[in-house]
Amino acid sequence: MRAVVARTAGGPEVLEHSERPDPEPGPGELLVRVAAAGVNFIDTYRRAGVYPMEFPHVVGTEGAGTVEATGDGVTGFAVGDQVAWHDAPGSYAELAVVRAVGAVRVPAGLDLVTAAALPLQGMTAHYLVASTFEVGFGHDVLLHAGAGGVGLLATQLATHRGGRVVTTVSTPEKAALSRDAGALHTIDYAAMDDLTTELPAVVRDLTDGAGVHVVYDGVGAATFDASLASLRARGMLVLFGGASGQVPPFDPQRLNAGGSLFLTRPTLAHYTATRGELEWRAGEVLGLAASGDLDVRVGTTYALTDAAEAHRALEGRATTGKVLLVP
Ligand code: NDP
Repeated sequence: MRAVVARTAGGPEVLEHSERPDPEPGPGELLVRVAAAGVNFIDTYRRAGVYPMEFPHVVGTEGAGTVEATGDGVTGFAVGDQVAWHDAPGSYAELAVVRAVGAVRVPAGLDLVTAAALPLQGMTAHYLVASTFEVGFGHDVLLHAGAGGVGLLATQLATHRGGRVVTTVSTPEKAALSRDAGALHTIDYAAMDDLTTELPAVVRDLTDGAGVHVVYDGVGAATFDASLASLRARGMLVLFGGASGQVPPFDPQRLNAGGSLFLTRPTLAHYTATRGELEWRAGEVLGLAASGDLDVRVGTTYALTDAAEAHRALEGRATTGKVLLVP
């Protein structure tokens, strides 16, 4: 099979398109012909050696495709089933081995390429607004990187739940996409000289001086201080990523000074830890996409041979919505 391998820890240039032996499913595993693989920040963290990985490794964790074979002991899936997944290392390939316990069925009416865009960012958007802080009617929400993969999906889901969503974006094109997804206001944070003071001032203007109930922050180092300062008393900062870098050590007294604030640093694995929870989240997200109630924007689709280009674009802030690789 053809696959994308990270030879050693480093930049996008370490990615190599090469021939590999076809993998075989072990007990409890599915062998899947990949229709499309999702490109995510976790792939870049692993490629760069920020998250510990063995090298060389086949890159990627997310995708959708058709089951070609099942390993011993697999129940509930058969050859020919269409499945999607968010946590199968080695997904940038023509064939991937996926643990059956981590695979979900793709509903009728949803094509495999769109399905590949949803497991990781879609379920993340879902747990952020439905579980970490349960957005409800009248909640004021600030969401960074509103035109990103998680951003466009979380904006729609939070809006459906009655939230009033304000987003940050870096270009007019991204602002238009974010508004189409339901954002009431977009803020060009890239144009600000001093994000930490200017952004909270704009957010307070938009919320009658009060600040927001929740900030969803996947940008991290660059936005963290502004996020804290944008909250109302007893508001929650949900720090779910670090696209601009990781947040340095933090003094909990700042939560007191800010108004008895809450801070959490969640991750998808803890919100899909049981089969029941995984099926619930995936079922809702894939179901909404299949019924047309969730708009899934695939910003760019690359060939497997162009994986390095895809990583450069994602890390270089040049993407909108989902980035996919098609074998
Ligand atoms: P996005 O599509 O949102 O891409 C990242 C966006 O962040 C960029 O497009 C850019 O938007 C913004 N950004 C701001 N500063 C930078 C910078 N210095 N470098 C790069 N991007 C920057 O990515 P995803 O939707 O895939 O992921 C968003 C975040 O969520 C990431 O931090 C990711 O690691 C995290 N994540 C966390 C999960 C969890 O469970 N905790 C699961 C999935 C993702 P703009 O140009 O508008 O500023």
